[in-house]
Amino acid sequence: MRLVDGNLYFKKISKNNEQYNYLNENINCDILIIGAGVSGAITAYYMAEEGYNVVVVDKNIVGYGSTSANIGIIDVQLGMELSKLTKIIGEKKTKKCINLMIDSIDELKKIVSKLGNKNSINFKRTNSVYYTDKYMNKNAIVKEYNTKINAGIGAKFLNESNIIDLKYGIELEDASATMNIYEFTKEIISYISKKENVRVYEHTEAYEIKSKEDYVDVITNNKFKIKANKVIITEGAEVIKYFPEIPIELYKTYNIVTEPIDSLKNYYTNFTARNTDVPFNYMRFTEDDRIIFGGQMTRITAKENNDVIAKQLSNSRYRKLFKTLQETFFGLKDINVKCCFSGVFAETKDSLPIIDEIIGMPNVYCNLSYGINGILFSVVGAKMLKEINKEYYARDMHMFGLKR
Ligand SMILES: Cc1cc2nc3c(=O)[nH]c(=O)nc-3n(C[C@H](O)[C@H](O)[C@H](O)COP(=O)(O)OP(=O)(O)OC[C@H]3O[C@@H](n4cnc5c(N)ncnc54)[C@H](O)[C@@H]3O)c2cc1C
Repeated sequence: MRLVDGNLYFKKISKNNEQYNYLNENINCDILIIGAGVSGAITAYYMAEEGYNVVVVDKNIVGYGSTSANIGIIDVQLGMELSKLTKIIGEKKTKKCINLMIDSIDELKKIVSKLGNKNSINFKRTNSVYYTDKYMNKNAIVKEYNTKINAGIGAKFLNESNIIDLKYGIELEDASATMNIYEFTKEIISYISKKENVRVYEHTEAYEIKSKEDYVDVITNNKFKIKANKVIITEGAEVIKYFPEIPIELYKTYNIVTEPIDSLKNYYTNFTARNTDVPFNYMRFTEDDRIIFGGQMTRITAKENNDVIAKQLSNSRYRKLFKTLQETFFGLKDINVKCCFSGVFAETKDSLPIIDEIIGMPNVYCNLSYGINGILFSVVGAKMLKEINKEYYARDMHMFGLKR
């Protein structure tokens, strides 16, 4: 499965070219992390800080999966309306999820403070906007606003914006952030790989996982064995290839990065936003006055396996996306496109992550965080999984179980 396609902006501007050897011997460790995308990097960070003997393997190169297309919106507002999630999991658990995500923004800031290349990572706290450009959607926005207020989330009702075509919206103060996730992932791996208790291997595929009562043997593509007390799978969307029974569906989403727009300086841009459309559009701004605009999300079909058809589909989706971008930022002239790229991500039915021990595989866990809140939930999962080597389950892990 091709996870990303097109002209990947964040990979293009990256300054970190560090490389890691492949595994060429049998080894032992406390915790083996399979997959070095942003979820694997964050999980490995927390495990390394706990002092465990950690091994990270990636079958490819650090950050080259969906992470290389991640556009770095760190938003507390869920992919699903709060009112809908409340109906599925109840008010108490919904509130818990929001609080876990709010704490995770602060956690990300703390992690960034320890890393090199902070200027390239560019962590910036912003407001979060959820909006509609249609008068007829007023009721949906009012309903969501009331659910947020009832859940104790301080929200401001909007009925105008000087930059986007907004009829009604909700703004949450400091409930979002932006950063360069590809660089962040590379920098975390680079930071932990210098610690004595961490080893990182690229071009090392976990080929077979043999789960035992007290430990796990993982066989790599080169037939070496990693014996680990616990294994954490952070394979992203590709997990479906290795564990087809995982309850997720695959989607593709499309993104445009514009050239710097001088006139953006005259507008209020300290926010990230997404609209109520199905499928929705999302947007953020960069430090050098670009707009990053995404959407046109579609379920992956067999057609995507045909390169020619996939390219035609992509081109028509980029065109539609650009038209929506122009309509959204109707007051801005001379918007030129710098890069277009797409990426595959997975989604669960309730938009929440899967953080659990794999059924029938003792000592094998997963931290699978998908969709629009993927990064924040990766932090939530990593913090919960920190306890597993002490044979202790974090209190709230049941909310994200495989069979919830
Ligand atoms: C275009 C796009 C934009 C997104 N933007 C955002 C955003 O702004 N904010 C947000 O919160 N979320 C976003 N997401 C969702 C999600 O957070 C990202 O997809 C995230 O980068 C996924 O990270 P990951 O580490 O789970 O997966 P990946 O980055 O795909 O990493 C998995 C890694 O596992 C490796 N691997 C797989 N199988 C094996 C194996 N058997 N052995 C060894 N290695 C293996 C792969 O090589 C890969 O490097 C976006 C997703 C897409 C597609």
